Amino acid sequence: MSNAMLEFRDVDVFYGPIQALQQVSLQVNEGETVALIGANGAGKSTLLMSIFGQPRISGGQILFRGEDISRRSTHYVASSGIAQAPEGRRIFPDMSVEENLLMGTITLGNRYVDEDLQRMFDLFPRLKERRNQRAMTMSGGEQQMLAIARALMSRPKLLLLDEPSLGLAPIIVKQIFSILRELTRGGMTLFLVEQNANHALKLSDRGYVMVNGQIRLTGSGAELLSNQEVRKAYLGGV
Ligand code: ATP
Repeated sequence: MSNAMLEFRDVDVFYGPIQALQQVSLQVNEGETVALIGANGAGKSTLLMSIFGQPRISGGQILFRGEDISRRSTHYVASSGIAQAPEGRRIFPDMSVEENLLMGTITLGNRYVDEDLQRMFDLFPRLKERRNQRAMTMSGGEQQMLAIARALMSRPKLLLLDEPSLGLAPIIVKQIFSILRELTRGGMTLFLVEQNANHALKLSDRGYVMVNGQIRLTGSGAELLSNQEVRKAYLGGV
């Protein structure tokens, strides 16, 4: 038996006549950090969203801890222990930082709220400084940190990140990846989708490269970083 936490088996997704995912198979094992990299439009967001049933897959299976979740509701999947910090950081703009974090605990009730708030403020000191500030008034990097912290407040078994570095200045990207490294060292299972292949592959145990809806390459983070095709297409040919 494999120790896969998340597994895609030959997954197909269509948008009308367009096939966005073709026979995609991949695996994220417990405690691993796995990156999915690929160009704009390769199908990365579609793959992440299909975990929550939006869109529905039309072939294959998606398993979470051995259970086929591909026909389950979004709510069921979220409450079974998968949390996503979305691209575009869909936080609640009019709420304070602390209120946003509390929204992340809704599926759990109040059992761990104080302890978890403290844990998030230790991990993200910037959020502590701004705990009473309205989310919309924060910088892009702080909003991204808030999106990640909010997802963590649900105590997920698996954390999904969609382009955590999108649109952020290099120094902020560095900060965010160093926080992600701390999380992975603490044993969190992480699956991240990124166009920033360099940071993502350095952080990850393993990676997959997606081209036109198909998995083109897979290997350890280090193998992919030194792969000629990856260097040419995603690392500026250096
Ligand atoms: P990006 O980094 O730009 O988000 P991506 O790798 O996440 O790109 P997807 O957004 O998953 O790629 O898109 C994969 C393909 O599916 C693209 O050809 C896209 O145009 C198409 N697509 C995505 N969403 C829809 C939709 N709702 N309806 C129709 N086609 C869609």
